[in-house]
Amino acid sequence: MKDAERARFKTILTARRAELAAMSRDSAVARKPVELDQQSVGRLTRQDALQQQAMANAQEVRRVNEQRKIDAALTRIDDSNYGWCEECGEAIAVRRLEIDPTALRCAACAGA
Ligand SMILES: [Zn+2]
Repeated sequence: MKDAERARFKTILTARRAELAAMSRDSAVARKPVELDQQSVGRLTRQDALQQQAMANAQEVRRVNEQRKIDAALTRIDDSNYGWCEECGEAIAVRRLEIDPTALRCAACAGA
């Protein structure tokens, strides 16, 4: 992979990481434990509040997982290991990395 390409993916991954961090910050209130006091949840029933909290928590888990994959990809970029299939050692197609910049395997090895 060319340096310019690697730099471009680093920019994409860094931007996505910042986006995820901002979403986590914004959803912190939604993930707080649901208060027993009905006043604090306004017109929402406690059941609704619990459902929304569960959804916010599930989204947070997905974000944390994606952040981990992004961190690993950024480490590979810094170590110049980025863009190589971890299974067969061949270069991962740039087109594939554009769809998922955190991809670890080439299309053939991923069975895609
Ligand atoms: Zn492969």
